[in-house]
Amino acid sequence: MVQRIAVIPGDGIGIEVTAAARTVLDAVTAGHGIELAYDEFDWSCRRYARDGAMMPADGIEQLRAYDAILLGAVGWPGVPDHVSLWGLLIPIRRAFRQYVNLRPARVFAGVPGPLRAEPGSVDLVVIRENVEGEYSEIGGRLNRGFPDEVAVQESIFTRAGVSRIADYAFELARGRRAYLTSATKSNGIVHTLPFWDEVVASRAERFPDVRWDSEHIDALAAKLVLEPGRFDVIVASNLFGDILSDLAAAVAGSIGIAPSANLDPTRTYPSMFEPVHGSAPDIAGRGVANPVGAVWSAALLLEHLGHPAAAARIVTAIEATLANPASRTRDLHGTADTATVVDALVAAL
Ligand code: ATP
Ligand code: MG
Repeated sequence: MVQRIAVIPGDGIGIEVTAAARTVLDAVTAGHGIELAYDEFDWSCRRYARDGAMMPADGIEQLRAYDAILLGAVGWPGVPDHVSLWGLLIPIRRAFRQYVNLRPARVFAGVPGPLRAEPGSVDLVVIRENVEGEYSEIGGRLNRGFPDEVAVQESIFTRAGVSRIADYAFELARGRRAYLTSATKSNGIVHTLPFWDEVVASRAERFPDVRWDSEHIDALAAKLVLEPGRFDVIVASNLFGDILSDLAAAVAGSIGIAPSANLDPTRTYPSMFEPVHGSAPDIAGRGVANPVGAVWSAALLLEHLGHPAAAARIVTAIEATLANPASRTRDLHGTADTATVVDALVAAL
């Protein structure tokens, strides 16, 4: 069965790292009975400059029939974030009900992390609730500019929304080290987070084989720095997950290696896979971007499409490539260019 991938390279180094991910995907699928067909879309800030829109009006419809979306990065100096984000990324996440944002973080040998953690000692996944919570548009401002000005923003937590993200996280933990940490702040936030805690606790009953606990976000952030090795899967609301996933990526080392997935676990709609980094205008077009974040994201794509062995082969190849100083890019204090890293990955495969 051919699985169809929509590829949106986007802007800047997004184009370079997506090409690298394609090369690695070809190498890992060839001869292994995995058939992927790709269509490329030039949706980007370049397109916005030309046509006044990041993607065509029927862009979501065009993507709907694909099995997955591989994205590079969108954004460029001079194009405001509300154009690049709200003109492409956010409509895709919402239309396709990608309610799970998944970000693995591992400490690999050869990656200069800030903590001097032993390679292999950190291997965790942050699961961020991706569609509700603190990022609602409900609220407003009163008396603008006056001394009695007020700003109000509502958070929305639903039983269905918290249940499904908790279920996803428990399920994932079950296939790993069977340990889940739920991020909360129910000692200070009196309505939404006690509700989050209650719903997570009620879902936990379905996963008696998974050990779990609840940590306040402040203590959890500190523990992620002080003892990151103790975590397996962390589940968090939209805002807390946003913060924790950047923190976890920083703990693991360069932003150039961090991958992410925006998932619709029901598989009704295509899920989207993208490196955590942006378009990096400062190094774009020079062939020096670290392709590992995009390549690892492609591995998450393969896993989601039902090819876990191929995904695992990519992660092993990444491990081998990073362990060799000759195939590390500048962000990892090496001198390799993108093509050298891709060659090393393909050779390792
Ligand atoms: P965004 O606004 O899209 O979140 P940003 O501008 O905050 O992105 P990036 O575009 O990710 O951040 O770049 C941040 C810094 O990290 C830049 O100096 C960039 O060169 C570097 N960087 C990002 N990704 C990579 C990569 N894949 N390889 C090497 N350096 C990278
Ligand atoms: Mg930026």
